[in-house]
Amino acid sequence: MSARPKKSFGQHFLHERRYIERIVSAISPRADDFLVEIGPGEGALTFPLLAAAGKLTAIELDTDLIPNLQANAASIGELSIIHADVLKVDFTALAQREGVSRLRIAGNLPYYISSPILFHCVDHAAAITDMHFMLQKEVVDRMAAEPGSKVYGRLSVMLQLACRVEPLFDVPPGAFRPPPKVDSSVVRLIPLAPSERHDADPERLYAVVKAAFAQRRKTLSNALRQLMDADAIRRADVDPKARAETLAPEDFVRLAKVVTES
Ligand code: SAM
Repeated sequence: MSARPKKSFGQHFLHERRYIERIVSAISPRADDFLVEIGPGEGALTFPLLAAAGKLTAIELDTDLIPNLQANAASIGELSIIHADVLKVDFTALAQREGVSRLRIAGNLPYYISSPILFHCVDHAAAITDMHFMLQKEVVDRMAAEPGSKVYGRLSVMLQLACRVEPLFDVPPGAFRPPPKVDSSVVRLIPLAPSERHDADPERLYAVVKAAFAQRRKTLSNALRQLMDADAIRRADVDPKARAETLAPEDFVRLAKVVTES
């Protein structure tokens, strides 16, 4: 029996089979994967993923959905449910506890906390092989945006410094019950290899990116005034008269290192 979807939990259940199939085929689960699903809901993705992988760990905040998930999964495979807020789940500890080197994470995310979930996953990127997420299309556009684009910003820089971002396909509101007010997209995120990761202090980097885009129409020397002067910006090989939206993600890494030095 279907429960009434709860707005406060961001519940929009996928029902169109062809999109469910496209997502599962993009994930392409294998029997030896350690799959983690964020927000299984009524199981639209959970059951086909479970059928393909044989086992799956799902993280769900809504207690009411758990008995049906467990009952329906019993004949398909080994479903283990973590009843928790995903933002409180330590993915690195989960991988260690399960004795696996890395997790594959997927989910049709609750949109009201999509950015915090993305940043939370990035914090655990070393314990993750890949992620496949359904998000608002507008968020996926920002994640994948290149310098110079109107939607290039904090999310683009922080995500691209941690992962390869591959937008896959769009999903219309009618594929969900109830339909969300926005278009959606599925995106694949592949954490960068250790040799490709930046070595700036994460807090400094975050502070620089946040300050630079807080006043995106201003020159960097103005926007970063609290953190560094024009000489320091030049030492990072960046033009102090440039605007944040023209800088590549790596430019922010060099700026963050200059802050650390000064
Ligand atoms: N995967 C299902 C589907 O595609 O039909 C449901 C997707 S629905 C957009 C988001 C799901 O995330 C819901 O089941 C909701 O209860 C769950 N959820 C919301 N907030 C959560 C949180 N903080 N931690 C874990 N799950 C959460």
